Amino acid sequence: MQPNPSLVFFAFIRLGFALFCLPVLLAEAPRAQHVFIVSFDQAAPFNIEAASMPVFKKLATEGAHTWEAFTIVPSLTLPSHVSMLTGVGVQKHQVTWNDWDPAKPILTVPTIFQLARTHGLSTALVASKEKFKTFEAAGGIDFFELPDDYLCDGIAAAAIRAIKATRPNLMFIHFGDPDFAGHLHGVRSQEKLAALAACDAAFGRIQAAIAEAGLADSSVFILTADHGGHDRSAEENELRAKRGLAPQPGTHGDATSDDVTIPWVAAGKSVKSSYTVTAPVLQYDTAATALWLLGVPLPAHFWGRPVVSAFD
Ligand SMILES: [Zn+2]
Ligand SMILES: [Zn+2]
Repeated sequence: MQPNPSLVFFAFIRLGFALFCLPVLLAEAPRAQHVFIVSFDQAAPFNIEAASMPVFKKLATEGAHTWEAFTIVPSLTLPSHVSMLTGVGVQKHQVTWNDWDPAKPILTVPTIFQLARTHGLSTALVASKEKFKTFEAAGGIDFFELPDDYLCDGIAAAAIRAIKATRPNLMFIHFGDPDFAGHLHGVRSQEKLAALAACDAAFGRIQAAIAEAGLADSSVFILTADHGGHDRSAEENELRAKRGLAPQPGTHGDATSDDVTIPWVAAGKSVKSSYTVTAPVLQYDTAATALWLLGVPLPAHFWGRPVVSAFD
C-alpha cells in the first residue's frame, strides 16, 4: 500500500516544526536580566564578621548566604578568578600564574563573558589589578576598565559609568583594597578592616546607581571573594629577609581553611529571603549560577553547577 502523500507531507511539516522549537525548549528562560558578581579580594568570612560592612551584611541577611564556600588551590588571585569566571578548576583552565604576562597563553576555556555575549547579552568588567587583562585578552567584554589608582573609589566610579552607559547584563566588579592591606599589615589588621569598610561603602554607591538606572528589580548580586588569607610565621619572614625580600605579614595560596574558605551571598530577583545555603558551594559555581540566572546554557565542560537552592 502506498502512503498517502498528504499525510507524509504533514508528518514532515510537524517534524520540521518540532526541530525548529527544540533549541527554544532546551534554552531555559532567564531568571534575571542582570547579574552583578562582586569580588572582595582576600575577604575571608572572619574578616567580614569583624568589619563594618552594612551594605554587604544587609544583602547577606536578606538574601541567601553561606560563610563556608570554598575556592580552589592554589588560593591565588588570578587562578581563583579564572575559576570564578570560567566555571572550571585549575586542572582544566591551567592558569597557575598570578600576574599579567602578555607572553602567557590566552585562556583556553571560554569565560562567562564570551558565553553570555554569544547569547546576545552585554558584559562589563571593572577590576583593581592589572592581571584582569587576562579576561580582556580572552575577549567578550563590552566595557573593560582598570582604574589608575586601583582603589575602591575609582572602581565605584568606573562601575557606575559602565552601568549608566551600557546597562550590562553581566558585570564583574573587583575590589583589591583588602588584599593590598592584608599583605602589608596582616590578614586580621585594622587597616584591612578599614579597607573592607571602604569597599562596602563604594559597593553601596554602585548598588544605588543600579537602582537609579531602574535595574534593581531585574538584577541579582553575587558577593564573594577569590580567597581568604593567613599571617606568615616569624620564621617565614626571616627566610624572606635572607632572600632579600621585605617582610610581608599577610599571605595566601595554601589549602588551609583560612585561605580557602570564602563568603558567597546571592541577593535580588528570585533569591530566597533570609536563606542559609547548606549545599556545598565551590569557586566555579559562581560562573554556573550567573549563566543559569541569565538563561545561558551551561557548556558540557563546566565543573560548576548553579546554586539552585538559593533561588525560588
Ligand atoms: Zn586575591
Ligand atoms: Zn593577595
